[in-house]
Amino acid sequence: MSQLNAHLTAAWLSDFAASVAVNADLLTELDRQIGDADHGSNMNRGMQAVAALSADDFADAASHVKKAGMTLVNTVGGASGPLYGTFMLRFAGALGDDGELTTEALGAALRAGLQGILDRGKASVGDKTMVDALTPAVEAFEAASGQGVQAALTAAAQAAASGRDSTIPLVARKGRASYLGERSAGHQDPGATSVTLLIESAARTLG
Ligand code: ADP
Ligand code: MG
Repeated sequence: MSQLNAHLTAAWLSDFAASVAVNADLLTELDRQIGDADHGSNMNRGMQAVAALSADDFADAASHVKKAGMTLVNTVGGASGPLYGTFMLRFAGALGDDGELTTEALGAALRAGLQGILDRGKASVGDKTMVDALTPAVEAFEAASGQGVQAALTAAAQAAASGRDSTIPLVARKGRASYLGERSAGHQDPGATSVTLLIESAARTLG
């Protein structure tokens, strides 16, 4: 059973930062195909700044993730900066106090983070955005929550990857890719790709 504290959330977000760094060229290439070729560099800049935060400077996990959200808003830019920032801020707001990490607390935080992205970006499932990976991930987490944190996160990561893959044939209806209309079909959404890395990192570190 994981103990929730700033060191645990720092382990998660540092793992995500490393994953973004490894995949930065892929994220940028995907964004080159249907956007402006900056998603990898945007996310890498933001997550390196988040990874540079020291867990020792935070009283609890919620204040660490809140600072991560503010850091992303201030450093990532583009569409994804405010969206990832809002995810982290809402996640932090719903996470609750440090202590034993329960599926209830983590599920509530993931659900609140997703709702923040929906409120801010106004995308629905099928619009070819990060929402297409994050929505099934949160639903899978909730469906598997009776099996414990690790099993629920493993299910969430698998669902995120399926949702990411489901963006390939879609025509984009939100964000920069929507400017391409039908020509956006046949390409994997960059934001759905990066948010899958976020959930895969959670499955490696929070369980
Ligand atoms: P920008 O499009 O401003 O260059 P990025 O390239 O960093 O920003 O991020 C692009 C990603 O942001 C897209 O692949 C998509 O997943 C996500 N995105 C864009 N607009 C929205 C929206 N309204 N709601 C949810 N996600 C969105
Ligand atoms: Mg872009």
